Amino acid sequence: MKKQFKAESQRLLDLMINSIYTNKEIFLREIISNASDAIDKMCYLALTDKSVGMSRSDFGITLTIDKENRTLTVSDNGIGMNEEELERNLGTIAFSGSREFSAELEKSGFGTKASAAGGAAAEEAGENISAGAENTEAAESDASPVDIIGQFGVGFYSAFMVADKVEVVTRRYGEDKAWKWVSEGAGGYDIEPAERDGQGTDVIMHIRQDGEEADEYSQYTREYTIYGLVKKYSDYVRFPIRMLMPHSRVKEGSDPEKPEYEEVYEYEVINSMVPLWQRRKSEVKDEEYEQFYRQSFFDDKAPLETMTVSVEGMVSYDALMFIPEKAPERYYSEEYTGGLRLYSSGVLIMDKCKELLPDYFNFVKGIVDSHDLSLNISRELLQHDRQLKLISKNLEKKIRSRLEDMLKNDREKYEKFYNSFGRQLKYCALDNYGRYKDELQDFLMFYSSTEKKLVTLAEYVERMKDDQEYIYYASGDSLDAVDKMPQTEILKDKGIEILYFTDSADSFIADIFREYKEKKFMSAIDGDFDVDGKKDEDVTELFKDTFEFMKETLGDKVDEVKATTKLKSHPVCLSSGDGMTFEMEKYFKAVNPELGMKAKRILELNTEHPAFLALEKARTEDAERAKKMCEVLFNQALLIAGLPIDDPSGYTDTVTSLF
Ligand code: ADP
Repeated sequence: MKKQFKAESQRLLDLMINSIYTNKEIFLREIISNASDAIDKMCYLALTDKSVGMSRSDFGITLTIDKENRTLTVSDNGIGMNEEELERNLGTIAFSGSREFSAELEKSGFGTKASAAGGAAAEEAGENISAGAENTEAAESDASPVDIIGQFGVGFYSAFMVADKVEVVTRRYGEDKAWKWVSEGAGGYDIEPAERDGQGTDVIMHIRQDGEEADEYSQYTREYTIYGLVKKYSDYVRFPIRMLMPHSRVKEGSDPEKPEYEEVYEYEVINSMVPLWQRRKSEVKDEEYEQFYRQSFFDDKAPLETMTVSVEGMVSYDALMFIPEKAPERYYSEEYTGGLRLYSSGVLIMDKCKELLPDYFNFVKGIVDSHDLSLNISRELLQHDRQLKLISKNLEKKIRSRLEDMLKNDREKYEKFYNSFGRQLKYCALDNYGRYKDELQDFLMFYSSTEKKLVTLAEYVERMKDDQEYIYYASGDSLDAVDKMPQTEILKDKGIEILYFTDSADSFIADIFREYKEKKFMSAIDGDFDVDGKKDEDVTELFKDTFEFMKETLGDKVDEVKATTKLKSHPVCLSSGDGMTFEMEKYFKAVNPELGMKAKRILELNTEHPAFLALEKARTEDAERAKKMCEVLFNQALLIAGLPIDDPSGYTDTVTSLF
């Protein structure tokens, strides 16, 4: 007699049968992990009850492909099920995340709208679902409803994504009767007596015929597809997964000169079983880690750093993490998503679990495996999961201390690391008005005028002269450009270290950090500091008339003209005052030219320079000549600041007319 599924199960089944979920291949992971769980139970029994007469090595999972009948069978010699368990486990929705899953379905609108199976209904259901994502219902759940299935381990029913009929032949340990459960999905299921040697379960999936898409389902009747899926999702299941694999071998009796080959099938264990991260670190060779890294994360270079973590405690887990040597191609773009691979007892649950790493360390690749996490955990739950938070905190600590160690003991390596990922650390240190400044500032490095290499802020402060008040920095397009800035000369002359800020983000450091270890950041270019006790204002006052004359001559082109005591051999420079810097102006011009953002232009003059004295003289003797000198000085200042001049040929004419 046909039995009907419970309402909730029916809904989940519809979803599977209609297969709006594209990632169908996960069905195998689900069926295999059920088999592995069943073996776990049996194994425990064998351990505690000697009369069972089995040891660990007797257990395993077998995959069988029957191409003729289009079936894929997953067999285990685990605990099995009796009639009542079959009824309870496969007739009702029973997977552990089921309640949350139903709630999500409800929210997405699926639960109420899609009920009947069938092609048209399926399409309609699909539409309802995507429509649901756009209206307010979606606000309650930020997951796209179609993704919901992927977020949950959906368990046994996922077989219906690829099969139109599923048979389960099972015999519970200690009972002599076996049972067969059969269902074609929507129509309900039957349970009848069956035969089976020994305890265990066979899940026989009758693979669907291909629809419009060629090979959509047929691929699941081929050894290599199945092999690939086991490798991808179930490689670390702790029991051997065997499959008859085709091998070609030289035909017996064929001519050795011109050998003929034949295909033979041999059982092969296809999973690696014990993952690298569960082996003791001392037993794993560096090359093994390296090979694992290259294969798993598609990098042709060896990792710069390998980190292992093994914790037994409130939450037990193993982690294996790597820092790549080079940033992946799209690392600094929106397309990049970081995260660690998350396993639950060797079974992959999520490829990129972002929650395991803080954003600023999102370059770290690796895996986390914990048997304390359920396979059915959803993304939504992950965000609130206490165990996961604990793990991620520990991992962060590990990465942090490894980087600190590298910075201290292997400078060359750290610089390599910094060249690849320094920008990420810097951006994150600046992000959100410096929310993570304290966490990250000690990892940043800047080029130093005195050391001629990258240095940290701590090193800078450590070296500061006794009477030095500030951390001096100078911003510009390149190290060379900054080095040649006239304003840096006086400080350099006095042996004061200047940090060169050449990255577009650097210009925000002073604004957002403000200080480091109670030392304020001060721009060597246009900061308000005194040199040798001379104040710019006093000197400006002294030559007031000349500056007024210059401002009048240059008009709107400059915001202010004044004296500076920070120049030595150069006559002029341009500064931008407190607000936007020239670097910011250039940045905005590159990314958002319509805004027309412009930094202030303050022309500063070295009143002790012969050029200034010549201008002074000309102002009273030959005003026209003096005006030309103003133009020339202003354009020079622009050029040195790396800003374009308005009329280059006019400028050349003016210069030559002065000869
Ligand atoms: P979950 O595995 O999350 O509990 P499933 O829908 O995958 O959900 O399976 C439902 C239940 O059916 C399992 O909890 C288990 O009790 C039983 N079951 C499934 N597959 C097997 C198997 N191969 N051997 C024994 N029991 C099984």
